[in-house]
Amino acid sequence: MKTKRIGFTTSLPVEVLYAAGHVPVDLNNIFLSQDSAKHIHDAELRGFPRSLCSWIKGNFSAALSSDLDEVVGIVQGDCSNSNSLLEMIAEESMPIWRFSYPPEREYKAMDREISRMEQHYGVSRKQSMEAKSWLDSIRLKLNRLDRLSYVDRKVCGRDNHLWLVNSSDFKGDPRIFEAELDEFLYNAEHSDPLPTRIRIGYVGVPPIFRNLYDSISELGGDVIFNEVQRQFSMPYLCKDIVEQYLVYTYPYSVLGRLKDIREQIAERKLDAIIGYTQAFCHLQIDNLLLKKHIDLPFLNLEGELPEALDPRTILRLESFFEVHS
Ligand code: SF4
Repeated sequence: MKTKRIGFTTSLPVEVLYAAGHVPVDLNNIFLSQDSAKHIHDAELRGFPRSLCSWIKGNFSAALSSDLDEVVGIVQGDCSNSNSLLEMIAEESMPIWRFSYPPEREYKAMDREISRMEQHYGVSRKQSMEAKSWLDSIRLKLNRLDRLSYVDRKVCGRDNHLWLVNSSDFKGDPRIFEAELDEFLYNAEHSDPLPTRIRIGYVGVPPIFRNLYDSISELGGDVIFNEVQRQFSMPYLCKDIVEQYLVYTYPYSVLGRLKDIREQIAERKLDAIIGYTQAFCHLQIDNLLLKKHIDLPFLNLEGELPEALDPRTILRLESFFEVHS
């Protein structure tokens, strides 16, 4: 079977793509690692509105410039814009396919959806499970990395974010990803603990800001919990692939996310929360509930473009740390 490069718009059962011998490409990671300002500009030249989330515009341009064979859009359980994005990509003669996280979060429905994906890519459940067992051995190491952040304090918030966010596609090559991770873990484990700082939890989609983690660190905090990025790393290591994508909190109700966040607040002894929302994103509404029900100092930041923090956001961060340090 020919190896294909398969783009996707948010975490999906990546085991199926690896079982089929394909290369998964998370369009969000590609967008930020390439010339993201140009990607947004190109999408706007094609008619995407100014008042639309930058990730959507970035995903569109990244899909067209990454030598892909197909794009999988997650049309249920992620973004309200996904269907329209897919239609625009299809308009460019790029094959598309739709994946849905069943809103009822129920075993049979999830099982059916993963089977439909396996059928589409010509693999059996046994093959997906073999790929899962391989990827889980790497996820176990990511768990270790996460513990090095909040228990041993040897991994900073930025590195924690980068490793976990990239586990959505293992950068298209789990072997290289694992070799680099092994080296990183070895160095981290043999380093001195980081200075004690305000223990920050970061909740919400990954930030579009280029320097958020460094700025938090300069102000006296360190992020020791990256909520959605940790979810991308499938931290629960369930034996069953269906179960794994049911306990994954991001695609379902915000109340499930809240339960996970509260557990991690207690486990990691967090002092404060920074909630991130993206301009023009429907998840801003979920964030209202997170802020209401999380009983810790909570600062909400909104980002729009892939650039450094703007002066107003820096000022808000400074006053937050002044009050809570
Ligand atoms: S940030 Fe929000 S609007 Fe933008 S792609 Fe993600 S879910 Fe969609």
